[in-house]
Amino acid sequence: MYGYAGNILRVDLSCGKVSYEPLTEELVHNYIGGRGFGAYYVYKEVPAGADPYGPDNILVFASGPFAGLFLPSGAKTSISAKSPATGLYGDSNIGGHLAGELKYAGIDAIIVGGKAQTPSYLLIDDDRVEIRGADHIWGQGAIKAEEVLKEELGDEFQIATIGPAGETGVVFACINHDLGRQAGRCGMGAVMGSKNLKAIAVRGTRGVPVADIAGLKNVATNMFRELLANPGLKAWQDLGLAQVTTWANSIAALPTRNFRQNFYEDVNGLSGELMKDTIVVGDKACFACPMATGKLCKASFRGKTVLVEGPEYETTALIGSNCALRSIEEVAFANYVCDELGLDTISAGNVVAFAM
Ligand code: SF4
Repeated sequence: MYGYAGNILRVDLSCGKVSYEPLTEELVHNYIGGRGFGAYYVYKEVPAGADPYGPDNILVFASGPFAGLFLPSGAKTSISAKSPATGLYGDSNIGGHLAGELKYAGIDAIIVGGKAQTPSYLLIDDDRVEIRGADHIWGQGAIKAEEVLKEELGDEFQIATIGPAGETGVVFACINHDLGRQAGRCGMGAVMGSKNLKAIAVRGTRGVPVADIAGLKNVATNMFRELLANPGLKAWQDLGLAQVTTWANSIAALPTRNFRQNFYEDVNGLSGELMKDTIVVGDKACFACPMATGKLCKASFRGKTVLVEGPEYETTALIGSNCALRSIEEVAFANYVCDELGLDTISAGNVVAFAM
């Protein structure tokens, strides 16, 4: 099937069994990929009344037909499960480089079920699939654990990890990838932790079947040309989502002091422009994306200096103005703490603001 690897990888952590099943044309035509695949499998396979933290819940990692091809907007991996935050279907997606790597390893989706007896991680190296022990990274921060696995396995592996929040079942635990990108919403990290699954590491070396290479190249060229000519592009490249903060304040829509207010008088201390001028040290892009909206920042707090991707608008709004912080550097540092713990910054900011 063109645009797809043609395989679903099924992993049962309870019995340690891994198997492949073919991707069907019916699934592709009805659900396309990514979130569609996740919703299909979660509704079909998770029994009614299943505990989101129980072995009957499944965690689905799925890419779409653009993944792994030289096209913008195909970099997302969708992660789906029954959500511990809502008790309903949930999904969250993550950029970076995981989706293409899964495709290169011959996989359109991974369905993880059951629960490992001990901390584990899933290694996928083309056709070699192993469930390995993860005692040495259990308890470590999500980014630290990714660094350790990169060191052990090689930089070409694309890795998704959880932090201590996922291990201990915090309902808004996220999944980290690419040293600072997160699938933040719906507690997908808590589902991963409930399965004793600390990480997934993937390396693939295959191509993606394409029906008309010349036609695809033509479409890709036009997409890049239009994107690069768009007058709005520069602001995204310069500031990423952080450009939204002052705009949201200007229309009285910035969450402030636990949502009791919608306008923040100290917004200039949190602006994307100030962030760019003071703490941004580089740009990061997802696979084949010319926008590079990821902003790598250096932030110091009480004598400790860290590198962190972000903060984006949502983090600045919920941890910044909603908690009445006045400094973008403090927000960036809090962003780093959340990333290492494996906490979704939106919900973390909300909880802290509520407690204040
Ligand atoms: S770099 Fe930014 S715009 Fe591009 S795919 Fe990633 S998140 Fe989206």
